[in-house]
Amino acid sequence: MGKPREKEPTIDEKYSLPKLQEVTCPHCKKGIIKVNRTLHTLPDKEEILIMLLECESCKFSRSDVIPLSSAFQPGIYTIHVTGGDLTAKIFRSPTGVILLPEADFEIEPGRSAEYLITNIEGILNRMIQWSKFMLKDFKEQENQYQKIQKTLEILTRCRNGTMDFTIILVDKEGGSYIIPSNESLLSFEAIRFEEE
Ligand SMILES: [Zn+2]
Repeated sequence: MGKPREKEPTIDEKYSLPKLQEVTCPHCKKGIIKVNRTLHTLPDKEEILIMLLECESCKFSRSDVIPLSSAFQPGIYTIHVTGGDLTAKIFRSPTGVILLPEADFEIEPGRSAEYLITNIEGILNRMIQWSKFMLKDFKEQENQYQKIQKTLEILTRCRNGTMDFTIILVDKEGGSYIIPSNESLLSFEAIRFEEE
């Protein structure tokens, strides 16, 4: 099918970068983070993605370089969060599922899921917010209510740094990535997922 490719695709044709979700500045909590992404091929042919994040309001900025050879592959990322360090960054593609086994909590991408860029703290805040919504919904069902309350307690301890925990990011399609503050706490297992 299709015509044979006549020339090598450029790096921009090769990778289609997913749409970004608006992210509030983690620093001033007011501004919106502007994300600038550039694909680049190094002289040794390694392909990298340079991300520049900048807050329009407080001028907070930082940049990241992500090697594309090892990033965004289908598989399972596992990061151990210890000593209350919630700064590891999470890039979740629309096909990524985030799990926090200690709290038995899972964030499935919604139907209109977009690329999510946040850090561990941002993930915990989301989980806590959703648990609080669920508490309201299950007010009449005592068993469920107690279960969610327990989850909420664990999540709060994780966020306050009084409990170590694990974040697992499963992406069957590839496109997700975790940038740890300490490499030794992150592991990656590439998996060939069977077609169902
Ligand atoms: Zn800011």
